[in-house]
Amino acid sequence: TSTQRYQAIDAAHHIHAFVDQKALNQEGPRVMVKGEGVYLWDSEGKQYLDGMSGLWCTNIGYGRRDLISAASQQMAQLSYYNMFFHTTHPAVNELSEKLFDLLPGHYSHVVYTNSGSEANEVLIRTVRRYWDVMGQPEKKIFIGRHNGYHGSTVGSASLGGMAFMHEMGGLPIPGVEHIGEPYWYAHGGELSPAAFGLKCAQELEARILALGADKVAAFVAEPFQGAGGMIFPPESYWPEIQRICRKYDVLLCADEVIGGFGRTGEWFAHQHFGFEPDTLSIAKGLTSGYVPMGGLVLSKRMADALVERGGVFAHGLTYSGHPVAAAVALANLNALDQEGIVTRTRNDTGPYLQKSLREVFDRHPLVGEIQGTGMVAALQFCEDKASRTRFANEADITWRCRTHGFEEGVIIRSTAGRMIMAPALVISHAQIDELIDKTRRAVDRTAAELGL
Ligand code: PLP
Repeated sequence: TSTQRYQAIDAAHHIHAFVDQKALNQEGPRVMVKGEGVYLWDSEGKQYLDGMSGLWCTNIGYGRRDLISAASQQMAQLSYYNMFFHTTHPAVNELSEKLFDLLPGHYSHVVYTNSGSEANEVLIRTVRRYWDVMGQPEKKIFIGRHNGYHGSTVGSASLGGMAFMHEMGGLPIPGVEHIGEPYWYAHGGELSPAAFGLKCAQELEARILALGADKVAAFVAEPFQGAGGMIFPPESYWPEIQRICRKYDVLLCADEVIGGFGRTGEWFAHQHFGFEPDTLSIAKGLTSGYVPMGGLVLSKRMADALVERGGVFAHGLTYSGHPVAAAVALANLNALDQEGIVTRTRNDTGPYLQKSLREVFDRHPLVGEIQGTGMVAALQFCEDKASRTRFANEADITWRCRTHGFEEGVIIRSTAGRMIMAPALVISHAQIDELIDKTRRAVDRTAAELGL
């Protein structure tokens, strides 16, 4: 069959992301062949409700004809050009005008990339360059967080705080430090969420003081931690982080790769949490994943310094601002905006998802905490609710739940101790009901196996 043929080619030629390749070869990957709206189909004809928007990226859903025709028209008009030779092109300019319409007013410039990892690579060199032109070349150190995820390349994986990733290739690079994650359920102990949020933020202050504020360039974090467990920090966290960054003149760099473009019901996740970063790393929802594109957005203050005093910006990518990616991104942003999809996420479908999830899982014996807002949510698995005791083998348990999900026809993601969902923003109420119903069946099957 075509399934077996593709599985054989796959086993012969591919190294997959974040899996034990030998185990995958034995199992054989599912072969996905079609997507429409919030649904996917595999080569055996099985239908799945995609509760993860691909990899948190197909915010507008699959198969949108307007994005497809934007790509084909742009390919016919100008399939490629660059921004190297004192040149530009209409597609990238139209996109930037729209992007900065949607962004808060204190951002002015962007360096386009092909991915989120690249956006964070650009971040490292651009921030260091900024401090050079500001006459503070000693400010070079980045502080990230344990279990943060900023990409898989050398610099971005260094900013991230995943120990198992650092082990591969000898990371982090020098000049990157990490502080604890604001994961109250796991690390909060006897503290209230508010007190724990402050404690986590104050760890940043202590580290800045230990390193010397004159050496610290930036703090980098996701507004809510995605791949590291979809962790929403307590409300006290971000205001205190912002206060500390301003006090010590440390740049505040938000990784909006997952949180951007409507995921939380706001256009950008930092707006949901109410803080003002100096830079934003963007990707994923920028094009809804139809073609690769990312970028590093800079505040006007930083961009003015770089433009007025920086001289040559020694950085460039062949595909930066690629016309086809830009045309698709523009069609995507126009649709998200003009069809009121982000507004609906904030006012209607997001609250409906969050309320329904709590109704179904609040009393579930396996679920100790439900976090989320807009179109992103997590179920924390636990062995004992009252004491917030987690299973010793929680990663195995969530992995099993995710497999039951595939069998039930829903794609939800497992992280160490949590099940995550982040469906496309175009999901309807009936499809939210279906997502939750299938998720409940997967969670119930997991609980039954554990004798709960
Ligand atoms: N930053 C965050 C917060 C992410 O979740 C990801 C990917 O999941 C990245 C960066 C890396 O983006 P990419 O996979 O496009 O390189």
